[in-house]
Amino acid sequence: MRTENVTMKPEKNADSLGAKRISRRKLLRLATAASGLAIGGWPLKRNTVEAANSEPCTLLKNARIVDGTGKNGFSGYLLIKGGRIEEVSESPIRIDCPSLDCTGKVVAPGFIDAHSHMDWILPLQGRDELKLPFIAQGCTTFVAGNCGYGVAGFRKSSAHRKEITPGLFPDAEMRWDTMAEYYEHLRGAGMTHNLANFAGHGTIRVSMRGMDPSPLTDDEMKELLALLEKAMDEGAIGVSLGLQYAPGLFATMDEIKRVAQLVKSKDKILAVHGRAYSILSAEYPLNPLGPPHNLLALNEMIGIARETGVRLQYSHLMFAGTKSHGTYPQCLAAIDAAIAEGIDVQTDSYPYHCGNSILGVIMPKWFREKLPDNYRNPEAIKRLETEISMLSMLVGLSYPDIQITSVAHPDFKPYEGMFLSDIAQKRGRSPFATFIEIAEKSGERDTRVLLHNYSNMEIIDALMQYPACLFMTDALPGKENRNPASYGSFPLFLQYARDRNRISMEQAVRKMTGATADRFRLKDRGYLRKGMAADVTVFDWRTVNDNTNATEFDRFPTGIEAVFMNGKQVLQNGKVNGQVRAGQIVLPERSSQVGERV
Ligand SMILES: [Zn+2]
Repeated sequence: MRTENVTMKPEKNADSLGAKRISRRKLLRLATAASGLAIGGWPLKRNTVEAANSEPCTLLKNARIVDGTGKNGFSGYLLIKGGRIEEVSESPIRIDCPSLDCTGKVVAPGFIDAHSHMDWILPLQGRDELKLPFIAQGCTTFVAGNCGYGVAGFRKSSAHRKEITPGLFPDAEMRWDTMAEYYEHLRGAGMTHNLANFAGHGTIRVSMRGMDPSPLTDDEMKELLALLEKAMDEGAIGVSLGLQYAPGLFATMDEIKRVAQLVKSKDKILAVHGRAYSILSAEYPLNPLGPPHNLLALNEMIGIARETGVRLQYSHLMFAGTKSHGTYPQCLAAIDAAIAEGIDVQTDSYPYHCGNSILGVIMPKWFREKLPDNYRNPEAIKRLETEISMLSMLVGLSYPDIQITSVAHPDFKPYEGMFLSDIAQKRGRSPFATFIEIAEKSGERDTRVLLHNYSNMEIIDALMQYPACLFMTDALPGKENRNPASYGSFPLFLQYARDRNRISMEQAVRKMTGATADRFRLKDRGYLRKGMAADVTVFDWRTVNDNTNATEFDRFPTGIEAVFMNGKQVLQNGKVNGQVRAGQIVLPERSSQVGERV
C-alpha cells in the first residue's frame, strides 16, 4: 500500500500519543523479547509489535473496533501490515507507520455480500462503474455464482456456449470453461473485489444440453455431477440452484437430491433459489386450504437437506406480492424447526422491497418449456393471460409492480426504468399485451426487471433480527447498475439498525461479516484479529445512510469513510480509488480447518 493512499497526513502515532518514539530496529528487539507474550487472549494488550521487515503498514487509531463477532465494540487500535491484520489492541500500538485517525468512527471487517452475482461482472474490462459502487458501500468480498447462474465449470467446447450467457450478462466475455481457468483469468486481469464462488447448476447444465426441459439421461446425470465436482475441487465453495429459472426449474427432485448428495460428500454448501417465493405459484397444484406455496418450496428443500445432510443456504428469503407477506412467520418457523431438528439451514436478505429478476420469472413452466413457439400460439397466450391475471389477483403482485430495468431490444430502450403498467399506457396497449411484446422481442430471459412488493418494513425488521439470516445485495448489474442494492444495501442495514433500533450495530456488522464468513467457510475473512486478511471498512455510525430511492439508484451512500482490501486502501474520504486492484480469490476452508469461532 502506498502511504499517500491514507487519508490523514502521515504522523507518528507514538508521538501523537505522547509516548517516546521508538525506532524500527529497537522495536524489533523489543518484539523479540516480548514474543513469548505475543499470543494470548483477545483483545491483545501489549504495546509493541514486530515491525522489522519492509512491508507497508497502516495504523487505524482511536477507533471503535467492532470485530465481526457480534460482541460489544471497544475503543482501540488496529494495525495493518502487508495484506494482513497485524494487531488489534485496546492500548496504543507504538509503531512508525502512516496512521488514520478514526476518532468517532467504527472500524469493522470489510463487508461480505452473502448473495451476489458479481462473478459475471468482475472479469469485464472497462466496466468499473458496475463494480466500484460496491466498494463505496463498504463491501470487500462477494459470495457469487448464485441462483444456478454460475460463471464457470462448463463442459469443454460446449455446443451451447451462446446459451450459457443469456442477455442477463450481455457483455460477458467468457474466456474460460473450468473454474480453475476462470480464477486464473481473474487473477491475471486484476480484481476490484475478493470473490468466493459457487458452481451454478443451471449454467453448467446448459453447457451440456442447452435449454432442453426433458429429464437428464443417466450419462448426462453422471456428466453433470462430474462437472460440479470438478468445479468444487477447483475452489468453488459449493453449488447453487435456481429452481425458478430455466433450466433449474426443469430439474427433477431426483436430480436435485443427487446434486445435494454430491455437495454433502464434498463437505460444501448448497445455495438454493427456491421454486416459489409467493403464496401461490403455478409450480404447485392449486389448493386453497393447503400450505402457501412459498412454504412448500422451502420445506421441499429442507426435506432435501434432512435426507442428504447437506448444509442449505435458502437464498434471499422474500415474499413476492402483498398476499404473500403474511406468510413470513410460517417460513421462519419452518427454518427454526429444521434447525431445532439439527438441519443446517440459513437464509439471507436485503433491506429493500424490490429485487432483481428477469421478465420470464412470472411465466409458468409449461409456457417457458415451449418458447419461442408459444408466443405465436393463441391458445397458449390466452391460457397464460388467464393464469397471470388470476395469480396476480391472488398473490397481490401485478403489472404496476414490474419495473423494466434493462431490455435487449432497441424499441424498448426508452422505457427502461419504467413500470410495465406505465409503459402499457404510453403505448396504448394492455399491460399483458405489452408484457408479451417485450418478452418476445427482447427475450424473457434477456429482459431485466425489478419486482416490487417483495416485502414490507415488518418483514425487513423480522429478517434483520432473525439469527439465521445473513445480509446481502443480490445485485445483478447488467449493462447498467439499476438496483438500489448495488449502491446502498449495507449502509441501509446499518441505517435501519440505528434508526429502527431492532438490532445492535455489532449484530448488524456481524451479519455482514463474521457470520457470513463462517457460513461459507471463508478463510481469513470476516473478523478483525491478528493474522486475518486486512479487509477493513471504516464508517461513521452517526451518519451512515443509503441515498437511493425508487427511481434514482445510482446514488452513493453517506458515512462509509475508508475501505481496505487485503491491506490496500481502496476508498478514502468516501471516494473509491478505482486504480487499485486488491481483490483475491477466496477459497473455502474445510470444516476441520475452521477452528473455533465465536
Ligand atoms: Zn435468486
